[in-house]
Amino acid sequence: AYFSVGVHLDPDAMVTAVVDLAGATVHRHRRRLASTGDPARLVGVVARAVDRAVQQAGVPCGRILGLGVAVPGPLDTRHGLVVEPPNLAGWHQVALRDAMHTATGLSTVVDNDATAAAIGERWAGGAERSGSFLFLYLGTGIGAGVVHWDRVLRGDSGNAGEIGHVIVVPDGRPCRCGARGCLEAHCSPAALVADLLERHGRRATNRLGLDLRPDRVRADYDLLCRAARDGDKAAADTVRVAAERIGQAVLSAVNLLDVSRVVLGGDAPPGFAEPVRDEIDRQVNGHSIARRVRTVAIEDSLVGPDAGAVGAASLVLHGTYAPGWRL
Ligand code: BGC
Ligand code: ZN
Repeated sequence: AYFSVGVHLDPDAMVTAVVDLAGATVHRHRRRLASTGDPARLVGVVARAVDRAVQQAGVPCGRILGLGVAVPGPLDTRHGLVVEPPNLAGWHQVALRDAMHTATGLSTVVDNDATAAAIGERWAGGAERSGSFLFLYLGTGIGAGVVHWDRVLRGDSGNAGEIGHVIVVPDGRPCRCGARGCLEAHCSPAALVADLLERHGRRATNRLGLDLRPDRVRADYDLLCRAARDGDKAAADTVRVAAERIGQAVLSAVNLLDVSRVVLGGDAPPGFAEPVRDEIDRQVNGHSIARRVRTVAIEDSLVGPDAGAVGAASLVLHGTYAPGWRL
């Protein structure tokens, strides 16, 4: 049997997956990333994680066909460069594909994390994920991958699906991309924690036991999501406001793309599909356009948090990397 390795680099965490030719994961590992500011250092971290994953999977090196790396965009996909991601401070025109190839000896492809996750969902999601769907990735940042008739939509520069930088709040919070009011600036884990503090004050953050230090955002976000699920009013209110904004962005995307399915992936709060659905229903009325939007299925990812790594691994197996290439 042959395998490939996929790595998903979210600025906060790294998932490594060894995947067989049928899309089954034979080994996976997730770990927190403390700092991503130094690309050269991170290349070493990833290379070691790949080595370890292959060893732990018990797969002979000669059976590994290559490495796929999923990273936040924007990317120069033709040259395998990471251009300047809002959530990877200090990264400018990093030649990640070549660096990973040199560090591991494996032939390497680099792709946008949300696009890779959409591809992973299509590939490992089976028949339920055939056809067309929008995959919304909620990680440190927010992105989307679009699968249209079993093809991935790439756009002219390979950066289609940057839904995280769609403006949902006019003159809203500054986003790391330089604009204001982006979906990501209002609905990322960091934004939810900031919202809770802003709307409900220290009493709420203390009650939930939040730390509020920037490097503790994911832990705080997990506590917030859990409290919302358990019925804490302030936390539930914060999640509901985020769901409204996501719902509005999803509604626009559905009108633009006419997909019949939207998949929520990454670290979306548990049960998030329901309030997102509610917001879409609230926004539309009896018109026929609205009726079509109302039939759109909003679903949780079948593949889960590993979708990005699995999709990245699959890119190797598909061999060619070109706009419009078939899954
Ligand atoms: C980036 C996207 C990425 C998303 C999720 C956004 O800030 O612009 O390219 O897909 O974060 O990581
Ligand atoms: Zn932005």
